Amino acid sequence: MAKQPDEWNSAIDTTRPSIARAYDVVLNGKDNFEVDREFVAEIVKVVPEIYDVATYNRQILGRGVRFMVDQGITQFIDLGSGLPTVENTHQVAQRAEPASHVVYVDNDPMVLAHGRALLAENDRTAVVTSDLRDPKAILADPAVQRLIDFDRPVGVMLVGILHHLHDDEDPRGIVEAYMAAVPSGSYLFVTHFCDSSQDSRDAEKKFLALLGTGRFRTVEEITSFFDGFELVEPGVVPLPLWRPEQAVPSNLTVGQRLMYGGIARKP
Ligand code: SAM
Repeated sequence: MAKQPDEWNSAIDTTRPSIARAYDVVLNGKDNFEVDREFVAEIVKVVPEIYDVATYNRQILGRGVRFMVDQGITQFIDLGSGLPTVENTHQVAQRAEPASHVVYVDNDPMVLAHGRALLAENDRTAVVTSDLRDPKAILADPAVQRLIDFDRPVGVMLVGILHHLHDDEDPRGIVEAYMAAVPSGSYLFVTHFCDSSQDSRDAEKKFLALLGTGRFRTVEEITSFFDGFELVEPGVVPLPLWRPEQAVPSNLTVGQRLMYGGIARKP
């Protein structure tokens, strides 16, 4: 049986870093604990630009959502959505198209606690506290069923999350299960830590030692998540190079190359 909200609140573990709270640290948020800040301090030693990397990821999230709204998408499932921060998916989407529906899915209990307050006034948006590795359960969730019309195209977002999954958790199969549930004209949006240099491998070692989850993947591996779909220009690229709204320097820094992302259309 699904956990009740009170059980999730009591499930907040302040003795170990959580992905959602560590990400909140690098976005300069307030919803984190000492253990999360210590984790980030260790990461900064290997990737001094980690705060910028989080910013690049949030910026492409905004550009990607606006792109999908421009293509006529007005409903989004944001998987591994993170703690509410500035420019959340529903804010970006509903600014462009007020009727947009957004379901956030995250398994961190803090996300539900904080997401509720943010969304209390908004009946087009919901937060589901669940494990995205179980697409069948997520797709059958009452909030998903209420807000998402599976006869119309959907924006499926796996932004900054698939690198937290090991190969034996079948990230490819998980992507396929979500995309099988949505009709032609839907979009898949992925960003992912990229194994592209010795710097990125040093960063990965530190991430794994401290967080013990997932792995960085090569550009080819990240691109293969889009197999069967039509990648939109410019394909799978370092985050600042995906449809930039400002000029981007020709020599990217280690931080600017640490994550890659792309968007594809289901034919
Ligand atoms: N998507 C947001 C973004 O890119 O700005 C947040 C990314 S954050 C790095 C990854 C989020 O995925 C965290 O909030 C974490 O709690 C969540 N997460 C990790 N594993 C998950 C799982 N198995 N099911 C649901 N959420 C998960």
